[in-house]
Amino acid sequence: MDMDKKKAEYYKKRLVTTQDDLLRLVTKSERDGREADEEATQDIADKAANSYTKEFLFHQSDENRRVLQMVNEALERLKNGTYGLCVSCQGEVQVKRLEAVPWARHCIECQEKQDQGLL
Ligand SMILES: [Zn+2]
Repeated sequence: MDMDKKKAEYYKKRLVTTQDDLLRLVTKSERDGREADEEATQDIADKAANSYTKEFLFHQSDENRRVLQMVNEALERLKNGTYGLCVSCQGEVQVKRLEAVPWARHCIECQEKQDQGLL
């Protein structure tokens, strides 16, 4: 029981740190996107560069938001005691996988199926 508690604390710490980082990044890229807009001039080359920058920032923040959502869900699972269980087969997610991706929703087998579009 103590060990499990320690483990939960450990993953919680990692998740909260990631959550903080992502929130900062998402806020920053939204601000950068707005600033790129404000700095835009009528020059066509500038406009093109600006829309490229914006697209890049949007893509970045989309990805960050997606991970942030998974981090939030993992913290929810920690709270209700289902953390570390695959959301699909309810089997245990491999420790190595949680080490690499603490917000993983699926075990390796189910993740592979999902990547192939089978889930
Ligand atoms: Zn699974």
